[in-house]
This record gives sequence, structure tokens and C-alpha cells, in this order.
Amino acid sequence: MGKKILIVDDSNTARASVEYTLKKGGYEVVSGDDGTTGLETLSQHDNIEMIITDLNMPKMDGIEFIKHVRQIDLHKYTPVLMLTTESQDEKKMEGKAAGASGWLVKPFNPTQLLDVVKRFLN
Ligand SMILES: [Mg+2]
Repeated sequence: MGKKILIVDDSNTARASVEYTLKKGGYEVVSGDDGTTGLETLSQHDNIEMIITDLNMPKMDGIEFIKHVRQIDLHKYTPVLMLTTESQDEKKMEGKAAGASGWLVKPFNPTQLLDVVKRFLN
């Protein structure tokens, strides 16, 4: 089994495409469809080694989610990658302040995604 990654996104298609790419790259993938289900999934697995999160989501957005993640001892230093759009500069800064490790601007291709993930997990 490859390293386990959590993907959190409210868009089914976005989530499915990230999941597909990561699985093809040899990773194990678990998911959530917003910050609250993301935290639930995180608490159900003790070996999640990286988190990829969308920013705009209902109930709990990506920024709030990252803040919660950083309060969990086990995930203080877990790499958290935010998925942003070109126009979300302010959100990038907010995400950084909340504890994000980096971001990837949408739309991205599978190779870019796998490159960034590899960089964080090696
Ligand atoms: Mg969204």
C-alpha cells in the first residue's frame, strides 16, 4: 500500500479526478466533501501522511479546516496542500497563516499534482 492522502473537496468531479490521479500514482486515498467530513475522515485514520484541500466549501471551508487540522497533535506537521484559483491571492495568504504548506492553482494537470505531492512526501 502506498502512502495515505486525504483529499477534501465539495466538488465530486474535482475530488474524483484528484483521487484517480493519486491512485494511479500509487497512493492510497481517503476523502471528505467539506471541512467537517474531512476532519471526520482524518480522525478515522491514523496514518494519513498528506492532506489536499479545496478552499471554497459549504459548512466548513478550507481555511477553517486547516486551522482545525493544525490543532491536532498528530497533524501539526502533516503537509497540507490547498487547491486555489488564480484569483484567490488573499486566500492563499490566509491559508498560509492558517498553516497550509503550499498551494496548487486550478486548473492543474495530473503531472503537476503528482510532482507537488512527491515533493512533499519525499
Ligand atoms: Mg469548492
